[in-house]
Amino acid sequence: MSPASPSSTPHFDIVIVGSGAGGGTMAHALAETPARILILERGDFVPREDENWDPDAVWKHLRYRIPEHWIDENGRAFRPYTHYCVGGNTKFWGSVLYRLRREDFQATEHADGLSPAWPIDYETLEPYYERAERLYHVRGRHGLDPTEVPRGPFPYEAVPHEPVVAEIVEQLRRLGLHPSPLPLGLLRPGEADGCMLCNTCNSFPCKVHAKSDAEVCCIRPAAERPNVTLWTNASATRLITGPDGRRVEAVDVERHGETIRVRAPLFVVSCGAVNSAALLLRSANDAHPNGLANSSGLLGTRYMAHLATMMQGFHPFRRNPTVFQKTVAINDFYLGGNGRRFPWGQIQSQGRTHGVMAQTVVPWIPLWAYDAWVARGVDWLVISEDLPRTENRVTVEPDGRIRLQYRPNNVATHEQLVKETRRILRRLGFWVVVAHSHKAKNTTHQCGTLCFGTDPRQSVLDPHCRTHDVDNLFVVDASFFPSSAAVNPGLTIAAQALRVADHIRDTHLD
Ligand SMILES: Cc1cc2nc3c(=O)[nH]c(=O)nc-3n(C[C@H](O)[C@H](O)[C@H](O)COP(=O)(O)OP(=O)(O)OC[C@H]3O[C@@H](n4cnc5c(N)ncnc54)[C@H](O)[C@@H]3O)c2cc1C
Ligand code: SF4
Repeated sequence: MSPASPSSTPHFDIVIVGSGAGGGTMAHALAETPARILILERGDFVPREDENWDPDAVWKHLRYRIPEHWIDENGRAFRPYTHYCVGGNTKFWGSVLYRLRREDFQATEHADGLSPAWPIDYETLEPYYERAERLYHVRGRHGLDPTEVPRGPFPYEAVPHEPVVAEIVEQLRRLGLHPSPLPLGLLRPGEADGCMLCNTCNSFPCKVHAKSDAEVCCIRPAAERPNVTLWTNASATRLITGPDGRRVEAVDVERHGETIRVRAPLFVVSCGAVNSAALLLRSANDAHPNGLANSSGLLGTRYMAHLATMMQGFHPFRRNPTVFQKTVAINDFYLGGNGRRFPWGQIQSQGRTHGVMAQTVVPWIPLWAYDAWVARGVDWLVISEDLPRTENRVTVEPDGRIRLQYRPNNVATHEQLVKETRRILRRLGFWVVVAHSHKAKNTTHQCGTLCFGTDPRQSVLDPHCRTHDVDNLFVVDASFFPSSAAVNPGLTIAAQALRVADHIRDTHLD
């Protein structure tokens, strides 16, 4: 798969910018058409090397994070938790691949305001969820999750719980809760060339390419096709429209120190919620003075990220020998009801914390103490829904840097869920429960910024993720989310990409 030389093919039928969950899935779906496709990816392939699974390299030296700094709402620079590479953030995801619940598509009242309705319902996305689950090899077991929409079996059997987790599942059931297997995208676990169910998965790239990420499942097979070209280290800097602004005619690409103008009749932007907004803002011109496709004034606004807290139950006399711990979820608090006025969110078990990871929180505590601590801990992730607000937004500074103005919403609700999780863990017998959150600096589940909808005054994209204002411009990544829900976003991005690909095939390709 050698990237083509720019000068040999400057004109394509479709340009896809970004190769993560949205762009990678889109490229895979459209690769089957005869269209000549160019994928632009600003990063490179993640090298397969020992550092892939080295907590020091990944957590202490931040080997794979972007070197770039963004500006927060107080004007302070921070290094966002995100990655530029083939496969995008899916290379580092935990591969927890959930469908949204039916209620997530509907308007729902929360303590801090309204979670707005989506312009499509669960049933519209369901066939694409099925396809996305097959594409990303999702493993799970249906019928156990109290919030799940009735569905058929998963394409692959759930990953079995290791003994400590199995015992916790039984304890949770005795408490009257309904633990269910986490849906996970893993390739051939237990087989010779497959997933080894190791303890360096979430936040680490998979050295043996056994994680279902967009590079392995989508980009590599797509790029085998003669009609697909991949340019790595190729950053889209600006989209160029015709004089009336109705169509994008070209994209400027910075690659190896030169700027290349690539032309095509169709463009799909999939740079992730923050960078897609930034690219359209940077593409302002006379026809679109406030940024491309921004007649609503909403471009870049309604940025969301989940409220997420890492929790650990600790018992001084119980070592936890679990290697692959991330197999169970508790969704009993996901919806309102049962005495709760509002939905609280989800609790899921998390990959094992390594001493080095914990040390990034309080660096002066020696590593041996952290190692001893995490060896006796069981790790959890608590997620609540963030709510869209116009003030939470992406803008571009005059010097070109990204500014992310963001204050999380729904904080009190999340704190209630953290409190409840603490109570549960204490009832499970853990002596100490610790909690840590990166709060507003956690950009891993970034979404919103170009929400989709039917009304061009209230949304940037139409229900097929085409911009209302520019006829041949689609944006397919986490940015279309009008609400963030409280489960991991990846499968929904992939499912919508498959849906949009079908739509493009029906309406834009001969
Ligand atoms: C550590 C971690 C764990 C996670 N765990 C999970 C999980 O278990 N389950 C889940 O569902 N989600 C998880 N997520 C979130 C998930 O990875 C993202 O929601 C998802 O990847 C977003 O898809 P996307 O297409 O919007 O953007 P991305 O996957 O980020 O892809 C965007 C791509 O565009 C490229 N790009 C950006 N700007 C340009 C440009 N100007 N020109 C060219 N290319 C550009 C980027 O380099 C990148 O490759 C996790 C994320 C992280 C970081
Ligand atoms: S071997 Fe399996 S558990 Fe380990 S990183 Fe790869 S996909 Fe994740």
